[in-house]
Amino acid sequence: MFELPKQPGDGLVATPPEFTFAEAEGMGRRFFGFVGTATDLGSERDQNFRLTDDRGHSAVLKVSNPADTREIVELQTLAAMHVARTDAELPVARPLPTLDGSLWGSVERHDGFSYFVRLFTFLDGSSVDASDLTGEQLRDLGTVIARVGRALRGFFHPAAGRMLQWDVKYAAELRTMLADIEGERRQKLVTWVIDWFETEAAPVLRQLRAQIVHGDLVLDNLLMADGHVSGIIDFGDVTHTPLVCDLAASLADVMRVASDPFALASPVIQGYRSITELENDEKMLLPVLVATRFATMVTISASRARRYPENAENITAWDSGSWRFLETLEDLGPVEAERRFRAILAIDDRTALQARHDAQSLERRRGVLGGSTLSPLSYTQPLYLVRGQGAWMFDGDGRAYLDAYNNVPVVGHCHPAVTEAIASQARTLNTNTRYLHEHIVELAERLTASMPEELDTCVLVNSGSEANDMAWRLATSFTGNGGGIVSQHAYHGITEATDALSPEVWAGSRPRHVATVPAPDGYRGPYPRREPEWATRFAQHVADAVSVLAERGMRSAATMMDSAFTSDGILPTPPEYLREVMRHTHEAGALFVADEVQTGFGRTGDFWGFEASGITPDIVTLGKPMGNGHPVAAVVTRSDIAQAFAKSGEFFSTFGGNPVACAAGLAVLEVLEREALPARAATVGAYLRQELNSLAQSHPWIGDVRGRGLLIGVELVHPNTREPAPSETDAVVNAMRERGVLIGATGPAGNVLKIRPPLVFSRGNADMLTTALGAALSAVHA
Ligand code: PMP
Repeated sequence: MFELPKQPGDGLVATPPEFTFAEAEGMGRRFFGFVGTATDLGSERDQNFRLTDDRGHSAVLKVSNPADTREIVELQTLAAMHVARTDAELPVARPLPTLDGSLWGSVERHDGFSYFVRLFTFLDGSSVDASDLTGEQLRDLGTVIARVGRALRGFFHPAAGRMLQWDVKYAAELRTMLADIEGERRQKLVTWVIDWFETEAAPVLRQLRAQIVHGDLVLDNLLMADGHVSGIIDFGDVTHTPLVCDLAASLADVMRVASDPFALASPVIQGYRSITELENDEKMLLPVLVATRFATMVTISASRARRYPENAENITAWDSGSWRFLETLEDLGPVEAERRFRAILAIDDRTALQARHDAQSLERRRGVLGGSTLSPLSYTQPLYLVRGQGAWMFDGDGRAYLDAYNNVPVVGHCHPAVTEAIASQARTLNTNTRYLHEHIVELAERLTASMPEELDTCVLVNSGSEANDMAWRLATSFTGNGGGIVSQHAYHGITEATDALSPEVWAGSRPRHVATVPAPDGYRGPYPRREPEWATRFAQHVADAVSVLAERGMRSAATMMDSAFTSDGILPTPPEYLREVMRHTHEAGALFVADEVQTGFGRTGDFWGFEASGITPDIVTLGKPMGNGHPVAAVVTRSDIAQAFAKSGEFFSTFGGNPVACAAGLAVLEVLEREALPARAATVGAYLRQELNSLAQSHPWIGDVRGRGLLIGVELVHPNTREPAPSETDAVVNAMRERGVLIGATGPAGNVLKIRPPLVFSRGNADMLTTALGAALSAVHA
C-alpha cells in the first residue's frame, strides 16, 4: 500500500475563512492595488470574492483555507501558472502578482492562523450540468481535461507528494470513515468498491504513468460559455498521482448526474483520447477507478456531515447522484459493470462488442476482401486478436496465445522501444526520401556494416516482395540476362517478377524464364543427409538448371534462395551447399541473391542466415522483421551492381526509407543488440529442438526435427511408411491453437510444422510449446 506522507493540517477538517466583504475589498487594495466592490463567489474550503472595479473589470480574490501551508499555496499557484504558460490557449484563471511582485499576500488573524490571499483573473462563464451538454461539448470537455494533464506533465513541486484524501489512490484509507456512512447497506456498497479497488487497482497503480495533475477537473471547476470551456479554476486539489486518476475524477463528476451515465462518459473519453491515448493498464483500471472516485465522494461527504451536523444538508446535497450510480453498479455486478465500461473504452466510436461481432463476421469480410484466395485466414476457427505483448497475443475475450508462428515481431509484439520510436518520429516528421535525413543514412550504414565489406550499397523499400523485385531488376540489368533459378517450392513475393520466382504459388502455368532446383532436403529428398557430399550433389542441380535455361535459349540472371528454405519445409544446409550454389551461379554469369526476408535479423542465431555458409552474396534482400511489423524492407548489394542499374534510369520509392520506417528499423537493430536476441535465439532454439527430439521418442508421427536458432521445422509423417501426413499436420496446428499455442505448416506437402516465434521466446515458452504439441499429437491420433 501507499505510505501516507503526513502534512500539517487537514484541509477536509479546517473550516473556511470568514472575512467580511469590507476586509476583502481592503485586501484587494492593499496587496494588489485593485479597487473594487466584493461579492461572494462561494467555496467549500476557501473564501472566494469577486471584486469589480468602477469600470466593470473583475478579478477573483481567494483567501485560502488556513490548513493550506505556504508550500501548498505555492504548489497550486505555480501549477496554474505552468498550465497557462504551457498551453496558452487553455482559459486558466491566472494568478496576478501583488504590488511588490509576490504571488500572494498574507494576513495574520487573532485566531492565530495565517491566511494567504491571491488575486486571479476573472473568467466569464458558469458551471453547467453534464446532462445539458451535447455530445460535441462533452467531447470538447474531454480534450480540455487531457490538455490540462498534458500541460502539467513537465511540472514539479515537492508539495505535490502530500496526501490528499480525494485522491483515489488513497481509497484504502476510506475504511476508517465507513462508520460515518448511514445505513448498513450503503456501508457494504462502499466496502465492496474498496475491496474491488484493493484487489484490482492497488497492486498496479504504482506502475502507471504518474505526474502532477489538477485532480478536480469537474464541471464546477470548468466554467462554460457558448458551449465551450471558458474557465479552468481551482487548483486546490493539485497532486502527484497516476494520470488516469485525473480522468476518473472528471468522469465520476459527469456520470453522477446522468440517467444513462455510460452514454455521457463515452464522448468525454473520446475527447480525452484524441489528445492523450490511454495506455492498456489505464484502460483496464478506469472502471474501478471511477467507481472508487464515487465511493470516495460519498464517504468523505458522510464523514464531513457527521463532523459538521449543522451543515450536513449542504455537504451531502450532491450525493444522491453518486449513490444512484453506486447502486446501479451494484445491480449490474462487477462483471457487467466492467463490461459496460470496456464497451465504451475498448473502441469508443463503435462499441467493442459491435466491432468484435463485425470483425468476426466472415460474410462481411468476404464481401469486401475478396474471399479466401485474396485474403486467406489461419485456422479452422479464425482468430480475432486485439493485442500483443512479447511472445503473446490476446483475443477479444482476453485469452492469451503463445505466438510461436510470427517472425515479423522479431523483438516481441509491440516492443515499447519500437512503438515509441515509430510514434515519436510520426509526431516529428514523416516524408519521402528526397530530403536529407539522418535516419535513412544511419540505417543503411548499420545494415551494410553488418554484412561483408563488398556489400556497401543499400536501397530501402517497403516489403520483401519489393526488395526481391528490385533484386531481380538489379540482376537482369547487371548481367544482361533474363533467366532465373529458384528452389522447387520457393516463395519470393507478390509482384509480377517475384511471383514468377515463386513456384509455391504457381497455379498451373510455369514461367518459361524460370528453372527450379530440388530444395536441399536431406530427410526426404534424393540425397539423404547421412550420405557424404549430399549437399554438394543438391547444389549440382543449379548447374543443371543453367542448362535447362540454355535449352530454352536463355542465360541466367540470378539464383534466388531463402537462406533457410522456409517454404520448402525449413531446411538447414551445411556451409558447402550455398558455396557450391554460388560457384555454379557465377560460372553461368549470374548473380546470387540471398533472400533474408525470413531468416534475417538474428533468427538463425547468426545475424544473417547466409553467414554460416561463409559466402558473400551478390545481393541480399531484407524485409518482414526489419521494422517489427512496420513496413520497411531493403536491398543490399555491391556498388558495381548498383551502378549498372543506375544507368538504366532513376529508381525512387515514395515510402521506401521514410523517417518513420527507418526509426522502426533502427529501433529493431538496437533492441536486437541490447537484448542479445540472436544469441538467445541460438540457445533457446537448441533447447527447443532438443525437447522436440525427446517428444519424438514417444510420438512416432514426428519424422524429423530440424532448423537453426528459432526457425524450426517438425515434419509429421505416417509412422511406418514415412509418407507425409498433411491432414494430421493441419489437425495438429488447429489443436495447438485450441490449446493456446500458435504455429503454422509449410513444405511442398504441407506436413512440416513451422515454428518461428519472436526471438524473446523463452525456455519456459519452449516447454509450453512442447507440452501443447505432445497433447495435440495425442488428441489427433487418439
Ligand atoms: N521472401 C520470402 C522468403 C518470404 O517468406 C516472403 C513473405 N512470406 C517474401 C519474400 C515476401 O515478403 P512480403 O510479404 O513482405 O512482400
